Amino acid sequence: MKPIKDMLLKMRHDLVHEIARRSKATTEPGAQDIGDILDSVSEERTRELDMILTDREKRKLLQIDDALDRIEDNTYGQCEECGVKIPRARLKVLPFAKFCVECQEKNEREEKYTREEPEEGIRKVPMGEVEE
Ligand SMILES: [Zn+2]
Repeated sequence: MKPIKDMLLKMRHDLVHEIARRSKATTEPGAQDIGDILDSVSEERTRELDMILTDREKRKLLQIDDALDRIEDNTYGQCEECGVKIPRARLKVLPFAKFCVECQEKNEREEKYTREEPEEGIRKVPMGEVEE
């Protein structure tokens, strides 16, 4: 699993430094390099940097950290949904994939339909009848 871990760490590093480059203009000289801050894995700090990170970057960073956690837990490479081993070819393309192709597609399909909150509290109270 080492090559994948290295790959994830590199992705994280690249992402962080891309953000660092972009934020150079806005940070004061002498301030701690944002890349160093982000390189130290800390959820709290990541939250502090919410202002700088775009949603897309935040999501990616979370996915990478999540994958690294799963490597530590030895659950990496397993589909979270059905437990099947995610093919290595897929992990090479998408190292932070959590699901096998089938479950991923299923989830994406379902997400489309469940994005709206289901209507809550529909009670069939007959017309004219007041509660209490
Ligand atoms: Zn699956």
